[in-house]
Amino acid sequence: MSETKRYNVVPLPAFKDNYIWVLRDERHAAVVDPGDARPVLDYLASEGLRLSAILATHHHADHVGGVAELLRHFGVPVYGPKGEPIATLSRALAEGERVEVPELAAIFHVISIPGHTRAHIAYYGAKDLFCGDTLFACGCGRLFEGTPQQMCASLAKLARLPEDTQVYCGHEYTLANIRFARAVEPANAALAERERAEMRTREQDRPTLPSAIGREKATNPFLRCGEPEVAASASRYLGQDVRDPVQVFAAIRNWKNEF
Ligand SMILES: [Zn+2]
Repeated sequence: MSETKRYNVVPLPAFKDNYIWVLRDERHAAVVDPGDARPVLDYLASEGLRLSAILATHHHADHVGGVAELLRHFGVPVYGPKGEPIATLSRALAEGERVEVPELAAIFHVISIPGHTRAHIAYYGAKDLFCGDTLFACGCGRLFEGTPQQMCASLAKLARLPEDTQVYCGHEYTLANIRFARAVEPANAALAERERAEMRTREQDRPTLPSAIGREKATNPFLRCGEPEVAASASRYLGQDVRDPVQVFAAIRNWKNEF
């Protein structure tokens, strides 16, 4: 794939705090996780764009609920994870497969990242990562269908991508995630600085996304379960000493659920 990307990525807010991501050039668009068709149809019409493909990361309704309606307007391929109940899929994908959107000269590699759901996938290409509800800015998804072990392995895979990889996730949860992260790592200076910056961004009503893998590694407690301060906080929460990163992860994930 060429170094110069042919498409831009645009966020479409949906529901209360979802983002539907539109990849577009002057004429064509692909859409990631269209939970609702209406904002997508309105955007395509107002910009004069033709839809070329639909990419889904997992089966939750707030990510695929708009697919059937989009298919009534555009006969396009629908990509999504193999092994999840998505009736509208035209191609089910697993780890290592590739998706091409020729209209945008885009190629994405499929990364299997179970944990939030049992077969959740991410799309990675040209240093753009579309990761649904697995890695959030300063947080991670809840474990609805997977184990802490699986989620840790999935997050570790994403953390190995280049530091300047742009992270496009499914929700604007960043400020709430940062409040929790500050409780876990009160001495993390990069996190304190991030809190100030992201608060300014939200005051201006702008998305905090995309994030970047490097920023997440420096500030996201769920990617930092091997850090002594994170393990110490997890131990305090549990009332017993934990060091193993998966156990630390499980503890802070439970803590976040009730935070
Ligand atoms: Zn979800």
